[in-house]
Amino acid sequence: MTTDDLYSRDAYLPSTDATVTEATDEGLVLDRTVFYPRGGGQPGDTGTISWPGGEVRIADTVKRGADVLHVLDDGQTPPPANTPVTATIDWDRRHRLMRTHTALHALSGIVFTDYGARVTGGNMEPGVARMDFELEQISQEFGREVEQKLNAALAEDHPVHVGLLPRAEALADPDLIRTKVNLIPDHVDPIRVIDIEGLDKQADGGTHVRSTAEVGTVRVVKTESKGKGFKRMRIELD
Ligand SMILES: [Zn+2]
Repeated sequence: MTTDDLYSRDAYLPSTDATVTEATDEGLVLDRTVFYPRGGGQPGDTGTISWPGGEVRIADTVKRGADVLHVLDDGQTPPPANTPVTATIDWDRRHRLMRTHTALHALSGIVFTDYGARVTGGNMEPGVARMDFELEQISQEFGREVEQKLNAALAEDHPVHVGLLPRAEALADPDLIRTKVNLIPDHVDPIRVIDIEGLDKQADGGTHVRSTAEVGTVRVVKTESKGKGFKRMRIELD
């Protein structure tokens, strides 16, 4: 049995009822969950799992095969299998991650559309993130220019659509090819796609806000060269 990943269909669910399917010292597996397992540069969720008579803190969430493993804080006793529980994420942290993740996609769309540079990597924490680009040059002025374009685009309030595309269709979509959709393992079909209308489209498993105005404003706090064709930009949410 695999965990039903409610977060992939509705990123705004802060909690769910569920049943423990497996309990070990490393963590808990549930039949369904709102906890996002770390991946694609987005950290795993933290929160609590409670049941009548008990509660444990969840320090991290990771994928384990098709299951989602809720990693326990040290020294806690998990409930046994078959216990009905309530799983609740730390919503403020997650919402900040959703805003941050959507900001990164918008940033990658703008840098590609206006400067023709692809993304080579990225990572985020709540409210702060970095993104690496195949750019030849980078400067503070460039950072300021991109910051202005990014904030203007976010304020236009582009809707963010979450969809599932048949693999063959995804592989034929030029927008998705530029973000290396062809590197997704063969067995993944359909492919989950995040489409920020008019700004950016990419295959992605993460959680996002509904529209770009919800991101707020973003500052480009650092631009640095890490080598030839390897330039890094750091951003912070206001
Ligand atoms: Zn992403």
